[in-house]
Amino acid sequence: MTTQASKLLYERALRVTPGGVNSPVRSMRQVREYPLFAERGEGAYVYDADGNRYLDLLCSWGPLILGHGHPAVVEAIRRQAARALTFGIASRLEVELAELIVGALPAVDEVRFVSSGTEATMSAIRLARAATGRDVVVKFAGCYHGHVDALLARAGSGAALSSLPVSPGVPAKAAQDTLVLPYNDLPAVEAAFAARGGEIAAVIVEPIAANMGVVPPVEGYLQGLRRVTRAHGALLIFDEVITGFRVRLSGAQGLFGLDPDLTCLGKVIGGGLPVGAYGGRRDLMERVAPQGDVYQAGTLSGSPLAMAAGLAQLSLLADDAAAYPRLQATGQALARALREGAQAADVTCTVQEAPGLLSAFFCEGPVRDQTDTERNATGRYRAFWQAMAEQGILLPPAANEAIFPSLALGEAEIGLFAAALPRALASARDA
Ligand code: PMP
Repeated sequence: MTTQASKLLYERALRVTPGGVNSPVRSMRQVREYPLFAERGEGAYVYDADGNRYLDLLCSWGPLILGHGHPAVVEAIRRQAARALTFGIASRLEVELAELIVGALPAVDEVRFVSSGTEATMSAIRLARAATGRDVVVKFAGCYHGHVDALLARAGSGAALSSLPVSPGVPAKAAQDTLVLPYNDLPAVEAAFAARGGEIAAVIVEPIAANMGVVPPVEGYLQGLRRVTRAHGALLIFDEVITGFRVRLSGAQGLFGLDPDLTCLGKVIGGGLPVGAYGGRRDLMERVAPQGDVYQAGTLSGSPLAMAAGLAQLSLLADDAAAYPRLQATGQALARALREGAQAADVTCTVQEAPGLLSAFFCEGPVRDQTDTERNATGRYRAFWQAMAEQGILLPPAANEAIFPSLALGEAEIGLFAAALPRALASARDA
């Protein structure tokens, strides 16, 4: 497998772009010397600049639930492109996509479109702070909510009740108002509320964590967050940027039967075009400008192209009763193949799943929080990733990330994946 064209593109990119990439994980540093550069996608497959074909199990980190180039999505974009790219005033497609989202997500009465997941969480936090008149936000280690200053915080040493920035440029004050607690640890949340409940505006959580690998919530955890936040007059924000319209049409909130006050959505609702959204209870959303006093805006918000692509993808998912069961079954088939392969290769590997999502940790399980993920043997993952790539399977280019199946995967693709595992898991074992 030659990747010479990617290498040359990387050398050019390095001269004009920091690290040669537009988002850090694309550097592929954990698994390769230089990044692969993608050229085109088709169904379940992606082709790199050298013409190598890979089964795409990354799917742009989630949005491509229908795979690459689904004819309905491409046609919707083409049709809209011929009509207009953007208006800067309201348009019909924004209403239609909002209606679809409000109809699908039980806890969303109104929704506001933005252009990324980061904008969605940033705006939801502003709204939560305005609605409660409080400043402190609780987040969980290992959950990612975009690069919002206030959410780029990590727990300080010792007491869990003050946090530090994770990046230079994030003011200490911005991080101080964020409490970072371990995921899946309800007593830690109860203790934080006992100490500072009157200051806490919101708890933001990935209802199924997928940014430290897939870490499902333990029994009663999300229900506990709902109970504690409500008891203290704080809001519960579900960040469903990954789980929304992936785990099922009604998202994780539908899966668990919970009613967060606010919900953040992202890439999935744009079918692969840049978009995000936040929504929730009507009385809260009515605080957003121009109805209310909480300012939030965007020139390209509700981009007609993104709305058209999102509507095409989500309508297909909403109208096909078999879609989510099939996506879930595909994920389960990949997980089963991984478990069986690991056993046959005699390598310690914990496979964790949620509907439409899975990940493999090279350590004993269960993996329940970020501390547990530190046991994951990244050297083994690197060997595994490389051997899979050599056999034409593209996995997330970093350990502790989720594998994203798509509906473009059929029996043949599941077979390709399974066939590549013996060699790759043996490489992992010997790494
Ligand atoms: N929230 C979650 C749960 C995410 O996974 C991500 C990014 N993958 C974001 C927020 C940020 O979204 P974006 O990269 O579109 O800003």
